[in-house]
Amino acid sequence: MKLNKLTIAQASQGLKKKEFSCIELTQACLSEIKKIDKDVRAFITVTEEKAISQARKVDDKIAKGDSISELAGIPYAVKDLFCINGVKTTAGSKILENFISPYESTATARLNEQDAVVLGKTNLDEFAMGASTENSGFFSTANPHDLSRVPGGSSGGSSASVSSNECLFALGTDTGGSIRQPASFCGVVGLKPTYGRTSRYGVIAMASSLDTIGHITKNVEDAALVLQSIAGRDDRDSTTANVPLDNYFKDLRKDIRGLRIAVPKNYLSMDGMDLQIKSKVEKAIMAIEELTGEEAKEIELMPPSYALACYYIIMPAEVSSNLARYDGIKYGMSQKENNLIKSYLRTRARGFGDEVKRRIILGTFTLSHGYYDAYYKKAQAVRTLIIQDFKKAFDDVDAILMPTTPSVAFRIGEKIDDPLQMYLEDLFTVPASLAGVPALSVPCGKIGNLPIGLQIIGKWFDEKTVLKIGYNFEISNA
Ligand code: GLN
Repeated sequence: MKLNKLTIAQASQGLKKKEFSCIELTQACLSEIKKIDKDVRAFITVTEEKAISQARKVDDKIAKGDSISELAGIPYAVKDLFCINGVKTTAGSKILENFISPYESTATARLNEQDAVVLGKTNLDEFAMGASTENSGFFSTANPHDLSRVPGGSSGGSSASVSSNECLFALGTDTGGSIRQPASFCGVVGLKPTYGRTSRYGVIAMASSLDTIGHITKNVEDAALVLQSIAGRDDRDSTTANVPLDNYFKDLRKDIRGLRIAVPKNYLSMDGMDLQIKSKVEKAIMAIEELTGEEAKEIELMPPSYALACYYIIMPAEVSSNLARYDGIKYGMSQKENNLIKSYLRTRARGFGDEVKRRIILGTFTLSHGYYDAYYKKAQAVRTLIIQDFKKAFDDVDAILMPTTPSVAFRIGEKIDDPLQMYLEDLFTVPASLAGVPALSVPCGKIGNLPIGLQIIGKWFDEKTVLKIGYNFEISNA
């Protein structure tokens, strides 16, 4: 077995039993990157030296007989939105093309403490705005299952790198679906934890009330292991909650008998829903009914089109404010002009791509005097209704099941000139984002060679149940 193909749990066992060294494991991933990344194009930066030196440290610890953590020596990739001290951090944007971060994100710092090995930074849609990774300021990434198709986005590089075994897991961010949708397109597992479960510190902001840090793994067991290491209160992000962590890994193996699940009928019967996806997802739901011993409850949630409209008002409003800091003065690209306003304008005109500009303009408009009440305030009211809708649904069920996306991976170039079509990609993922609840995408079959994802949505801070359902489904489906 090639070492880069191992899961975290398998690799960790192998390292502890000294079946192979951490250098060998790291080299296996680096060679795979050298071999296939010219086609997949998942990485913007490969941090080979850093990886080798971290791997050496782990081998030394093992040789000395020190006890090591579950993630020690595990090679992983990071969406290029996370700051890593001393490493180029671009956010997929020309405006940060040469930006070297002077500090470290909490998520990568926590993985460092565990001695995980960072292989490099992965491609994304510029500032995480998109669903195909084609909005990257640098290049597009391909779907490892079919190189003519997109990997999804915006964490497309992270999902493609896990799916093609260039690494063992990858960090991503999910604002409106950017972990779940690419995980679904690439046939891997993607977890968006509860908003407030993981720290956003050191992760470049898109829309702060929605941005959630999570990860992409080869299976659910690994998703539990990574969550255990990165989650929890962080004084540097005041929106992280003081809710105790569960023992995610241990809890996985408990059976799910008696758990109550629900299916939103109105989602599955939507126009534009691919019928083959519908039937695969229904099959997955039946398999989970077998495991719980209970029939899934049919519910009606607020139409996802309301969530989509609400998301595309709130998110650009926050984007317009968060991206005001890129002015060519403090850091990043700088176009010198003889007056300050001209310099701001030139820098932003040159540095940002079309999609980013579109959202800054939309967001500035909806926040402006005279339109604020009609758009922004109304969207906030709708967001509250969506939260109440989930609360009501969770009164008598433990989890809600639905497809992650209405279609499978589309062709590179197919939707790039039609922003509205691209936004429709987020139909099934934005409701959980607006509500802030945890959601997991697990592979549940294929159409041809293109993977499909089942989305499991849980109550606030109940990642434990979401992972347990995902794990039991995965092993029953294996
Ligand atoms: N596709 C969505 C968007 O373009 C989601 C992005 C994200 O989650 N970062 O906004």
